[in-house]
Amino acid sequence: MAHLGTLYTVSAPSGAGKTSLVSALVKSNPEVCVSVSHTTRPMRPGEVNGVNYHFVDHATFEQMIEASAFLEHARVFSNLYGTSQKWVEETLQQGIDVILEIDWQGAKQVRQLMPNTVSLFILPPSLACLRQRLTGRGTDPEAVIDARMAEAISEMSHYVEADYLIINDDFTTALAQFQALITSQHLRLARQVDKHTALIEELLT
Ligand code: GDP
Ligand code: ADP
Ligand code: 5GP
Repeated sequence: MAHLGTLYTVSAPSGAGKTSLVSALVKSNPEVCVSVSHTTRPMRPGEVNGVNYHFVDHATFEQMIEASAFLEHARVFSNLYGTSQKWVEETLQQGIDVILEIDWQGAKQVRQLMPNTVSLFILPPSLACLRQRLTGRGTDPEAVIDARMAEAISEMSHYVEADYLIINDDFTTALAQFQALITSQHLRLARQVDKHTALIEELLT
């Protein structure tokens, strides 16, 4: 039987660099893709509907909850965020790996539903650096940055629930570590046996 894709969750406080790391990783790994979440958050300058998020209003989001459209959903910084159940399931069925960039509450729900999920937490090298990145990104007003910084410590306390931890200090180093994690999952025995069935059969007969 063809193998299913691996499901990853990547969580981090806002500004730690998860979106940058995930985008860079996906660029060099065509067999890995990112789920585009639905959100009620206002669109940032430069964001594109359907690319960064599916931007929906509150009523639409509530209807989607009613219709069980979400694998998981959560309220983060007073906005609702959710992962499409159908897209994730269909993509994994095709043997493609899926990364969910979701908060710790969502990651917890996904781990309970799909125990084989590989979870990664990303931390910044310091709180000062986190604020600097949020400011430097230039996408959020000062009040939003203050709110995100106020939540950062409580969000970061959930790092203990993840399987893997990366400190995003030097970007290239963090990206190489993330790549190593993906490669290690590709080398898991069940997946390799599935990929090299003919060779193994030939070697052992
Ligand atoms: P950023 O973290 O600064 O890029 O800010 P965003 O507004 O893009 O994301 C805010 C929070 O929502 C982050 O913690 C995300 O991980 C989380 N998030 C995004 N999409 C989802 C989702 O589909 N489900 C859940 N549970 N959380 C999400
Ligand atoms: P998140 O998705 O976790 O909110 P982003 O990927 O949007 O974080 O990164 C926040 C900002 O920090 C962006 O402007 C990004 O370019 C920058 N950044 C990310 N990683 C690093 C790093 N290792 N060193 C310096 N700046 C970084
Ligand atoms: P931002 O609004 O800055 O893009 O994201 C804020 C937070 O929401 C991030 O920590 C991000 O990981 C989280 N988030 C984004 N999409 C989802 C999602 O689909 N589900 C959950 N649970 N969190 C999400």
